[in-house]
Order: sequence, then C-alpha cells, then structure tokens
Amino acid sequence: MSADTIQSIRDGLKNKQFSAVEVAREALAFAERENPKTNAYLLFSSERALEAAERVDKKLAAGEDPGLLAGVPVAVKDVILTKGVRSTCGSKILEHYSPPYDATAIERIEAAGGVIIGKTNCDEFAMGSSNENSAYGPVRNPVAPDRVPGGSSGGSAAVVAQKTAVVSLGSDTGGSIRQPASFCGVVGVTPTYGRVSRYGLVAFASSLDHIGPFARNVHDAATVLEVMAGRDPLDSTSAEAPVPDYASHLNGDVRGMKLGVPVEYMKNATGETADLIHKAIETLRGLGCEVHEISLPATDYAIATYYVIATAEASSNLARFDGARYGYRSPSSGTLSDMYRNTRGEGFGAEVKRRIMLGTYVLSHGYYDAYYLKAQKVRALITRDFTNAFQNVDAIVAPVSPFPAFKIGEKVNDPMEMYLSDIYTITGSLAGIPCMSVPCGATADGLPVGLQILCNHFQEQKMFRLADAFERTCS
Ligand code: GLN
Repeated sequence: MSADTIQSIRDGLKNKQFSAVEVAREALAFAERENPKTNAYLLFSSERALEAAERVDKKLAAGEDPGLLAGVPVAVKDVILTKGVRSTCGSKILEHYSPPYDATAIERIEAAGGVIIGKTNCDEFAMGSSNENSAYGPVRNPVAPDRVPGGSSGGSAAVVAQKTAVVSLGSDTGGSIRQPASFCGVVGVTPTYGRVSRYGLVAFASSLDHIGPFARNVHDAATVLEVMAGRDPLDSTSAEAPVPDYASHLNGDVRGMKLGVPVEYMKNATGETADLIHKAIETLRGLGCEVHEISLPATDYAIATYYVIATAEASSNLARFDGARYGYRSPSSGTLSDMYRNTRGEGFGAEVKRRIMLGTYVLSHGYYDAYYLKAQKVRALITRDFTNAFQNVDAIVAPVSPFPAFKIGEKVNDPMEMYLSDIYTITGSLAGIPCMSVPCGATADGLPVGLQILCNHFQEQKMFRLADAFERTCS
C-alpha cells in the first residue's frame, strides 16, 4: 500500500491525492492478494469498508472533520464483534456466527473515520502463544514464513508487519498483543485494564482481558488507543479517567526519566534477545534516562497464578457455548445432555478443552479456596511489586519474550513449554498496568525482538513518550 501510516493517509486525503474509497479499494485488493502468504486474514469485510470510506469522503466534501482515523484501513482480531460480519474467535463453534451488534471499540473506530477491512486469524478464543490453536490453520510470520507470528493475536500483528493493514486491533489476556508484536517487529500496546471497553470482546478471562492496538509506529498506536479509550456505560469495568491526547505529547524528551530493570527478568535472559535488550537500555541511558536495577520478587509465581485465574474464568465464560444459544450445534444428538456434550466436544479444539477442564477443576467445591482464591492473593502480591517499584521509577523496561519467533510446530506438543513463553508478559496483565512492545532490533537471522515498557496504571502517556523517543533512535 502506498499510504502506510495514519499521517500519510490524512495528508493524502487533505491534498486530494486520493479519496478514502480509493484507499479502501487498494488496501482490500492488496490484502486479498498477499493473504495466502500468511493466512493472517480470515475474512474481508469489503462492503462495510467501502461504506465507511464513502462516509469519510462525504464528510471531506462537506468540509466536516472526518475524524482522527479518516480513511485508515483497520484489521480486527476475530474475537472482537463486528455487526453482520462473521466473528469466529478462531473457533469451529462460531464458524457461522454473525453478531447482532458491534463492540464499542469498533463503533469508536468507525466514528473516527476508520475503515474496517477484515477480521484476523487468532488462537481459538485467544488461548495460545503461537496462533497454532486456530481452527482455521496457523498464521505464518511475514518476516520468516516458516515461523509463528506469536499469539494469540498473531493475525493482527502479521497484517501490520505485512502492510496489509495500516493498524489493527488485538486482545491481550496474558501477553497476546506484546508477544506477537515482538515476533513480527511492530508496535503493540496493552492499555491499563479498564481503559478500553470490553463490550463486544468475546470473554476469555474477564478480569484480564484488554483490547489494544498494533501499528508500525508509536504515534499511530497512540492515536488508535486515544480513539478507543474512555468510559463506556456498557462495560462496568471501564474507567472514568479522562483520555489524554496521547499523540501530541510525543516530543522525544525523556531526560531525567527513571527506568527500572527487573533483576528477575534479566537473570535468565541469554543470547541475542538479551543482547538487544541490553543495547536498548544503553540507548535509553544515552537519551538521558537514569537506569536502576529493581526487584519484582513475586515474578516466579506469575505463570502458575495466571493459569489458575485465566482457566477458571474461561471455564465459566465458555459455558455459554452450549449449542442452544450461539453458533454450532451438533446434528447427531438424541438428548439435551448429548447435545451439549457433542456440540462442545466437536466445536472446541484441544487447547480450549484443556483449559475448560483445568478451570472447572480449580473452581470446583473444595478446591476454590486452595486454587482460585490463593491465586487471587498472589495476584495482589504481583500487583504490589509493581506499585512499590513505581514509587521509585517512571517506567520498567524488560524483554517481551525470552526468545524470538520459533518454528511452526516446534512447541505444539509441549503445552508447558508454550506457557513459559509468556513469562515476561503475564505479570503486567495480572497487575492491569499499561505495557507495550516496541521493536528494538533483530537477531543475526533477521528475527525481530521487542523491548517491553511498563508504566503505572493510566500512565500510557509516559509509556508512549519513552517508546517514541526510543523509536526515533532506530530510524
Ligand atoms: N499466551 C497466553 C495464553 O495462552 C496469553 C493469551 C492472551 O493474552 N490472550 O493464555
């Protein structure tokens, strides 16, 4: 695509180099042509895209403000509902499900002039770290096609890296935006929990789910977040806090900013990933930041805590897929309980079933206190570690993942090994703080690596300023 950032589209529309409809047509044609290389899109919403683009052109012709995202092609992870446009969650159980309403994030994107061009592939119900758990086949990493793009928002990261969308939306429960952003070499942002309404995001683990943007630069990611953020009466956990104009505060000045580097994240970091993170930290020091070593002692418990809380909440949330209310119903059932059993048995993939079983177990009578309640207590300790750290530092910098993109098939038979790939991202998700991945270079084989930046609740602005200042040193 010729216009490939929000700013370049805004300028092109203003100077009448092209119309929004022309941008949409070109984006759709290009994405459809390129998609077989990655399998990142599950569906193109051409009709809806062209209607949205026409609305933008009409506003421009009438001299009205077309919005912050005017004419910008946006791709959307398939766990986010789009009215009348099939939303499968990467699952067979929702193969033919066409939602009767839009997620709030989608409404806001379109109200700001954004053009939704398609739905992206993902791990089934956002459960996974490699996009290999999709019922619609894996996604290939555009940078290295024999490798995974990361997960669970693998498709949304891949389309931005492949330039088949300008920006995209993903969801993060334990790292599913930052990890694929890191693997594909794009910017990915998990906002503060409650910053973006979850209304219309199909629930995986409600106390951990976030919607956030992918973009090719920090400025674009900040703009998309600004459009989506803010209180929504349809999500009782969405926050009242005012939404700053994120993008206009990116001035490159981070002098005197105090950065914390957690010993627990660096002690096992080895190889090229660790080298690139160390180099990024030195770059930030060169920009005038003060770097301090900090400790987040509860880090070791994060994965176990996450897999108790996330599976417990998932088992409860996914109870609604019973063949009676949504999507697939097994045709071969004599009784009601057979219908439930067969529908869920045939409709869900192996990883989803594994998590429902684990979650049902930890919530069952007699185990609730020992597992779920205990995990919530440890979660509070993990959050307290961050609260303590942010008394002394403005931001925490760390790796996103212990390793770069791995080969397709490499970890599918070892769920524990797969779960460990989220070791550095899960803590931020449990604490509900804003965190992001910004590209910080590539290995000798050309595999991208992301630097993770974490800030205190609702301090996205500070996080973006640091990420943007760092990004400027890379260009
Ligand atoms: N990879 C983690 C999991 O499998 C995180 C997923 C996510 O953030 N949606 O649960």
